[in-house]
Amino acid sequence: MRIVIATGNPHKVDEIRAVLAPLGFEVLSLADLGGPAPAEPEEPGATFEENARIKARYYAAALGTAVLADDSGLEVDALQGAPGVHSAYWAGSEGSRAERDARNNAKLVAALRGVPAERRRARFVCTMCVATPEGAVLVETRGEFEGTIVDEARGGHGFGYDPHLWLADRGMTSAELAPEEKNALSHRGRAVRRLAYLIRHKRIAW
Ligand code: IMP
Repeated sequence: MRIVIATGNPHKVDEIRAVLAPLGFEVLSLADLGGPAPAEPEEPGATFEENARIKARYYAAALGTAVLADDSGLEVDALQGAPGVHSAYWAGSEGSRAERDARNNAKLVAALRGVPAERRRARFVCTMCVATPEGAVLVETRGEFEGTIVDEARGGHGFGYDPHLWLADRGMTSAELAPEEKNALSHRGRAVRRLAYLIRHKRIAW
């Protein structure tokens, strides 16, 4: 079964492919399709679910094929759920992905200055949606990945806020997990495994 993933983020493609490819899915990114990728849509949704739907429908219509889109981000309890759907561009949209990540992480540490360790609970959230070119939603899932936010950045894997999400039971941050360990635990891994399960067992076809 062929799935086109609507993201330009190579880390996400790797994480999703690592779960779906062994199950027999042919996983293609926008880049794999060749030709110019459709312009990115606005993501005006107030929730991760809304944004994943908007993206999946938009790319499915533009490409004429069923598309898997995800939306994800970090929710920090002490910040009333921020940065939430604004995670990617929380500290501005200028610069490369690496530059934005660095600015976002500096903003996160500053926003939590003075907040004690026991009030630093946070989670990555990922929602996934598969839509058809006609706009039908075939399947939707959500995964979460809990931790606490630490000031000191640790680890060289992953992307985004990974170096600051502390996993107490592992004694390391999300960025210190090897990629396959992160897939086994992460919000994206959970969402995509649930998606694969639903596709197989609910006989969803496209
Ligand atoms: P999206 O591309 O609109 O889903 O935005 C996701 C943003 O949330 C990313 O740019 C990161 O800042 C953050 N994020 C989502 N998933 C992860 C993760 O697995 N690790 C670290 N940061 C993440």
